[in-house]
Amino acid sequence: MRHTGRVKSLRFRLTISYILIFGLLLTAIGFTFRSRLMTIIQDRVEEAVDEDWSAARGFLKVERGQAIWSVDPREVDRTAFLERLRRFVMVADSHGEVLEMSIGYRQQGVESAAEIMERFKEGSPQLVVKEQGKDRVLLRYGVFRSEGTPYLLVVGRRITDVGGLPTAFMTDYFTVVPLLLLVTGVLGWFMAGRALIPVNRVAEAAQRISGSSLHLRISRRFANDELEQLIVAFNTMMERLSENFEQVRRFSTDVSHELRTPLTAIRGQLEVALMTAEKEDDFREAIVNALEDVDRISNIVRALLLLSQAETGQLALHKDPVNLTEVVAELAEQFRTTAKENGLQLAWQLDHDVYVRGDRTQMDRLVSNLLSNALKYTPSGGHVMVQVRRGEDSETAVLTVADDGKGIPPDSLPHIFDRFYRVPGEDPDKGLGLGLSFVNWIVKAHQGKIDVTSAVGRGTTFTITLPISLSHATDEPAAAVSIPLAEARQ
Ligand code: ATP
Ligand code: MG
Repeated sequence: MRHTGRVKSLRFRLTISYILIFGLLLTAIGFTFRSRLMTIIQDRVEEAVDEDWSAARGFLKVERGQAIWSVDPREVDRTAFLERLRRFVMVADSHGEVLEMSIGYRQQGVESAAEIMERFKEGSPQLVVKEQGKDRVLLRYGVFRSEGTPYLLVVGRRITDVGGLPTAFMTDYFTVVPLLLLVTGVLGWFMAGRALIPVNRVAEAAQRISGSSLHLRISRRFANDELEQLIVAFNTMMERLSENFEQVRRFSTDVSHELRTPLTAIRGQLEVALMTAEKEDDFREAIVNALEDVDRISNIVRALLLLSQAETGQLALHKDPVNLTEVVAELAEQFRTTAKENGLQLAWQLDHDVYVRGDRTQMDRLVSNLLSNALKYTPSGGHVMVQVRRGEDSETAVLTVADDGKGIPPDSLPHIFDRFYRVPGEDPDKGLGLGLSFVNWIVKAHQGKIDVTSAVGRGTTFTITLPISLSHATDEPAAAVSIPLAEARQ
């Protein structure tokens, strides 16, 4: 149940992430809107004060040091408008003398004569925010001319409550945000739960598989998403695991079986000798027979050791350019005597100096295993032909070992590379059934390919394709490459 907890915490973390991201986003949006709102309001107020100033300017005249506001009293609207304007107004001349000042303006604080004169110098228009306690007023200074003399007209608007709108907005907004976050959290929780349902299923399936049998697979969803990839990867892994498991199982069964046979034989021979032998020669014969079986056991053990080294990647390959032509020529020469003794014709046809990148010892082992098989399984009077040539693509070297011997039955053909496999009915003294396992491993470890065609009674042909080596120089640094047998066999 441990994994369920983990999945749940993933759900929790996903939900928290949703909430956090959404919360941050909402806060950012809130503040952006607020500042935008404030800019808009500020612009509006500035425009309005500007308009107020121009309007006031239209009504205003200065005659003999007196500010005179002229409006037709019959125009009620304009009169009211002027009334409003005059609530926050100040008129002064260029010497700093105030000609008119409303009460509202006075409360806001009066400029000194020097300050007023400064305004004349700075020119117009100017917008200034004045603050008095909590009160904020936006003032619009501007110089105008009446009868050729410059005067300063200041019109203001109270903006104390202008900030109220953004504040109200923020208050409302941030009251709603927690609610939105709650909704996001709940939705996120359910969404994360839904998204994780297939993960849970996969986890359960995986648990069932690892607990019971290796042949079970997680059923695919065909959704073409990441999870699907995970399932496929998992199934492939299980495939390999069960293959390897099966291989190990078969291997140990085979090993015990293979060792038992000669051991039983030794025991039998020695027991019989003990009970029935009378002469020294009888004992000698029994011992010789037992020794043969002991040899067989040590061969098995030696081969197994080598195979297990290959399997665990301990058998290092020192890859150098190897003259395959030379290897085959030397071995064919060696095998010629055996061939003759068995009444066989061994012939070879070799292209000049075909180099492959490989481990010399393993190349020897490869060729001699194939040659010994061909000679072993071809009855007297038969022919064995070995060929080495460059492939048509000139990137490969092709080695063929062909015989016209007994052939391999189609049923057995897929198994001949398995460890200890021998075609049923084969003479147990002829071999251990390990030679082709080695051949297969060597070929794969050299990135090569192996093909076999066979017809019962007509013969067998093994074709090995290996990557050619372009450089023949042996001074290349010898790279020790090792490939586990299990991998090479796939
Ligand atoms: P080992 O090589 O370990 O001494 P082996 O020759 O029996 O024993 P492999 O070389 O692995 O084992 O071959 C497996 C089996 O494939 C052989 O037992 C034989 O039945 C069959 N086989 C291999 N090569 C030939 C061939 N050229 N013609 C007919 N059968 C063959
Ligand atoms: Mg063999």
